[in-house]
Amino acid sequence: MDFTALTISQIQELLKSRQATAVEIAEAHLAHIEQKDKEVRAYLSLCPERALEQAKRVDAKIAAGEALAPLAGAPLAVKDVILTRGLRTTCASRILENFVAPYDATAVERLEQAGAVVLGKTNCDEFAMGSSTENSGFYPTHNPHDLTRVPGGSSGGSAAAVAAHLATAALGSDTGGSIRQPAAFCDIVGMMGTYGRVSRYGLVAFASSLDHIGPFGRSVRDVALVLQTIAGHDPMDSTSAPVPVGDYASALTGNVRGVRVGVPNEYLKGLSSEIGDNIQKAIDLLSKLGCSIIPISLPHTDYAIACYYIICTAEASSNLARYDGVRYGFRSPQHTDLQDMYRKTRDRGFGAEVKRRIMLGTYALSSGYYDAYYLKAQKVRTLITRDFVEAFDEVDVIVTPTSPIPPFKLGERVDDPLQMYLADIYTVTASLAGIPGISVPCGKTPSKPHLPVGMQVFAKHFDETKLLQVAHAFEKAGGFKLASAGGENPVTA
Ligand code: GLN
Repeated sequence: MDFTALTISQIQELLKSRQATAVEIAEAHLAHIEQKDKEVRAYLSLCPERALEQAKRVDAKIAAGEALAPLAGAPLAVKDVILTRGLRTTCASRILENFVAPYDATAVERLEQAGAVVLGKTNCDEFAMGSSTENSGFYPTHNPHDLTRVPGGSSGGSAAAVAAHLATAALGSDTGGSIRQPAAFCDIVGMMGTYGRVSRYGLVAFASSLDHIGPFGRSVRDVALVLQTIAGHDPMDSTSAPVPVGDYASALTGNVRGVRVGVPNEYLKGLSSEIGDNIQKAIDLLSKLGCSIIPISLPHTDYAIACYYIICTAEASSNLARYDGVRYGFRSPQHTDLQDMYRKTRDRGFGAEVKRRIMLGTYALSSGYYDAYYLKAQKVRTLITRDFVEAFDEVDVIVTPTSPIPPFKLGERVDDPLQMYLADIYTVTASLAGIPGISVPCGKTPSKPHLPVGMQVFAKHFDETKLLQVAHAFEKAGGFKLASAGGENPVTA
């Protein structure tokens, strides 16, 4: 049996019936990584000892007749912006190349308590800044569906690992789409909960008012299971919300009759048919399942990219000031004085995109420009949030494309940062509003090469249950493998 193709629930069944041990499942993954990751390059580092020790603990508990923990034996990949005690945590940056984390992020701690087996740390854009994983300070990750293309970003390593069966599920971080967009590009499920739903303790900060930790999986149920494990209040993160966490997985009934689905016209205008055809079919499928489809408007959508890129760069310029060669990681060896040491450390330690953002953010916050850029962006953020709050008076969920474009070729967009930023249009809105969002596969592009297309679902603050219910019903009805416009289903054909 191929242990690398299983879902979390299937792993649970195998462990329960003693058809496999957690050690066997972990070993199968490590062996597959050894072979396959040479071409995908999803991981930056592996931790086989930690993984096997944890797997042994799980097996010992089963042998002792203890009840199975909810994620027992599930092999997991963790994005390298999330701290893992005793392991290198680089943020895919040269400046943290040899940084070893002194503690575990709350999300990692909760997953291991629930029996999950951490296999290693995954590649990403440096400090999670990017949409293709090409901004990694080490090497790019390849899309497992087409190795000449990007896996998306910034959590491209986590998404590629799950898609290539190098992990059953993974943690990523999402500030403006970094879980949802790579999930769409790699044909898997990725979710960002409400801001505050999951503790950020141990997540290296990029833009603190927008940062989230969230799960990737190959099924909606797996994503629900991981999310409900990591969600919930944490005294170590003052922005984590003291709101009770539902049993998301048990709420997945497949019944979405009567759910009101909003479709924002701003997200469909100008959308290419290679993405739009599948989204339309996805909406038709939801309608067949008994949802009512309601056209809505989110009028401030056009301002979202500008607003997001002012706020996230402003926050990044402040958060990244701590990498000064004194406290963390790399320090330039040749310098004449302290100023020179700061300058050379940051010049050599940071890559081009990180420097660009620090400069943009410092500019937006500087006196004389603060009101015109940063303050204005904060006001626009309020308007974008209000758009959603008003829309949710009329609808339960909102359905949109995840990305306006399918996975592109490695190298194709690296010289044009603005084009890269503009492709984030459908994901940054929910980040600014703090509402939850999920991306699920919805078939492949109609023309060759058939590439993955993702559908995004938003819900109101803390209504993760409804969002997961809709995504799960869609999956159950065959939505992940929707036939493209040509009629032929490229997935099953
Ligand atoms: N692509 C977006 C950016 O470059 C989102 C990144 C993220 O969510 N971490 O900022």
